[in-house]
Amino acid sequence: MPSVRVPEKGAPAPKFKKPVKVKAKGLKRKRDEEELAELERRVAEFDLQATEFTELPLTKQTAAGLHQAHFKTLTDIQRKAIPLALKGRDVLGAAKTGSGKTLAFLIPVLEILYRKKWTTLDGLGALIISPTRELATQIFTVLRTIGGHHAFSAGLVIGGKSGKEERDALHKMNIVVCTPGRMLQHLDQTFGLNVDNVQLLVLDEADRILDMGFRATVDAIVANLPKSRQTLLFSATQTKNVADLARLSLKDAEYVAVHEAADAATPKGLEQFYMVVPLHEKLDTLFAFLRCHLAAKIIVFMTACKQVRFVHETFRQLHIGLPLLHLHGKQKQAARAEVARRFAAAKSGCLFATDVVARGLDFPAVDWVVQMDAPEDADTYIHRVGRTARFERAGRAVLFLAPSEEAPFVERLQAKRVPVARVNPKAAKKQSVQSQLQGLCFKDPEIKYLGQKAFVSYCRSVSVQKDKEVFKLEELPLEEYAASLGLPGAPRIRGVRGADAEKVKEMKNAPRGLKALENMPSGEEEEEEEEEEGGVRRAKKKEVRTKYDRMVERQNQNVLADHYKNLIVDDPTATAAPDNEDDDDFLTVKRTGYSSDSDLSTTSSTTTTTTTTKPKTIDLGGKDLTIASKRREKLMTSRKELAKLKPRGTKLVFDDDGNAHALYELQGLEAFRADGSAEEQRRAFVAVEGERVKVADVEDRRVAKEKRRERRERRRRREKEEEERARARAGSGESGGESGGESGGEGGGLLPYEAPPRVESEEEEEEEEEEERGAKRQRKWFEDEPEEERGRKGRGRVIEAAEEPETLEDLEALASGLLG
Ligand code: ADP
Ligand code: MG
Repeated sequence: MPSVRVPEKGAPAPKFKKPVKVKAKGLKRKRDEEELAELERRVAEFDLQATEFTELPLTKQTAAGLHQAHFKTLTDIQRKAIPLALKGRDVLGAAKTGSGKTLAFLIPVLEILYRKKWTTLDGLGALIISPTRELATQIFTVLRTIGGHHAFSAGLVIGGKSGKEERDALHKMNIVVCTPGRMLQHLDQTFGLNVDNVQLLVLDEADRILDMGFRATVDAIVANLPKSRQTLLFSATQTKNVADLARLSLKDAEYVAVHEAADAATPKGLEQFYMVVPLHEKLDTLFAFLRCHLAAKIIVFMTACKQVRFVHETFRQLHIGLPLLHLHGKQKQAARAEVARRFAAAKSGCLFATDVVARGLDFPAVDWVVQMDAPEDADTYIHRVGRTARFERAGRAVLFLAPSEEAPFVERLQAKRVPVARVNPKAAKKQSVQSQLQGLCFKDPEIKYLGQKAFVSYCRSVSVQKDKEVFKLEELPLEEYAASLGLPGAPRIRGVRGADAEKVKEMKNAPRGLKALENMPSGEEEEEEEEEEGGVRRAKKKEVRTKYDRMVERQNQNVLADHYKNLIVDDPTATAAPDNEDDDDFLTVKRTGYSSDSDLSTTSSTTTTTTTTKPKTIDLGGKDLTIASKRREKLMTSRKELAKLKPRGTKLVFDDDGNAHALYELQGLEAFRADGSAEEQRRAFVAVEGERVKVADVEDRRVAKEKRRERRERRRRREKEEEERARARAGSGESGGESGGESGGEGGGLLPYEAPPRVESEEEEEEEEEEERGAKRQRKWFEDEPEEERGRKGRGRVIEAAEEPETLEDLEALASGLLG
């Protein structure tokens, strides 16, 4: 056993202990100061040339994080940008997709804060802004990986979950990775959030964050930040727009573009193709393509989230043969995160997505990027295809272009140094899914409506595209396109006019809570998925929301919850003011139903009918009932159904002379007064009724007593019978036990006696119930103690031992008492 030396009492306390600790602390601080000074010197002297991370003037902590994550050699952008950023310069970093820009800004963030001796108490030191939640999450993950040895606190501030947790944690965070909308919300609403000390502002996908979509939000955030800070901007398509950069008040920023001289703006390992596919053959081509690549990992980009939903839902039902996922901005945050996680982990499968995943996301080992619809511009193209061929890996990309889009869009791509070759789909592999889609649309109205929405969303988005040379709605074969989706005809598209694309983009990216979208002429809603911050939900007018409000507002329960909501909403203003209809309404089929309300006539007059023939009416006792559908008409041949709708009669009572009276008749005022004052009448009434109650009570008690007596007798009789039967069985059971092996086996022969199942009569049950009720009320002097109560008492009784048992006799007595 190890011995512990205890100092003798009164012996002088060892004086050296405390001073040693203080001295050690002092020494450590001194050493840290020296290390820091040395680091500063190395940074200042660094000549911007390094191949390995170990050569960089980094803190031990960052070096350890990088080592642990197996990062060894610097990429080009890292080699050029990190040293500059470490020296405190503002940097505009441009490098191809998948070339390691994330580390190029995360390493400086950690280093600068460390060198400024940043602690948890210093508050927010660095703000990293990303255009999408998924990208913010990814950056945060990388930050945690390489920053694990530092003592900073870091947080992720994105929309889609309760802001309270974030709010509480924000005060303690040193580094925040955020989406613009959510961050602005916190700046507006989080009391005491101090951003005055922010040392570094980083914009990943900077051109996207600085474009129209986020303009107002980002300007508002930047207005809160101190002017004397370091700013790092990174993107594969870096903006050099002076006006944009002026908004960030950069100080002699260094433009670092590592691939400017390269032949292509896209990664080396990326093979790029395009196919000319007429709009109405896109789905067939996509289907055939996926069928040919069942083992691959593929991302398919589409323009609108409703297209994504439609294609995902239908291809899923057509059992295409590879796992399908879909991701767009209208999904709940939890679903988005789960899809992103699953696709990242998947070996093969297809992700249908909108541009919400176009930028920055680093899904491992994606084989193919398919763009079913042309992207809005060449930059978006570069980002989309950049989801594959990342970090020196190989990858392939194919773009479907409508014949009218081919020439102008290929020109745009060439201008941006994107090498893309034309290929033709193999005729032999062609396969039409039109009839299958028709089948699905016919079978399931939800699919059909989803198809209609997809159609309209696509047309709208084409109509609001900025590049009118590429996107020409009038040249697209819309009827054929509708048919290719399985739709019976092309839905009407309202509100497609030359909308201002810039404005649309700005609106669609506005935080959802602002919902200025409702007043937009067109197109906004379909593309809203690209807005990311989403979290800003400004206080709604209606403050108290009940469970029922939520039930009514509940959406997204199925593929087309919205539409069904429209079907059942019986909004009288809908026809009165068609101009106020929101975008979703142009597809709404408002059915004329029948209603069992008394207000039948108004129902039929406030709803429009899609049928052109005049609806039939049935006379229902003076009221006309409109019947809009064949089904209803058939239903109305049933007398039972009709009876439900007919006005109900009123109940009458007849006096001795056979005259009918209403159930309650009011006495005239004169007659009432003649009977005396109200109080007198009340008293007289109470007196008479009181007498009657007394008489009735005596009778009730007598009956109750009688019943109980009978019941007791019956029970006794029953018990007696059972006892006798048991005795008789016990007598015969001993001899039967040996011979009756089988019967024993059958009946689970462990029981010597099994009571026959007792079938209680209804009356008995009722009595039993009555008895229970009786047990609860206070027992009267004439009532017996209910049996179960007696039983309860027996069970729960307390055996008291006078004193602690000492002798064996005492114990025996106690035990026999306990055994009862
Ligand atoms: P970008 O932002 O330029 O598109 P990322 O920062 O997302 O690229 O990096 C792409 C991939 O390259 C990531 O998987 C990352 O882990 C990897 N990577 C980045 N830098 C290095 C490096 N120095 N060595 C090895 N892998 C790296
Ligand atoms: Mg990136």
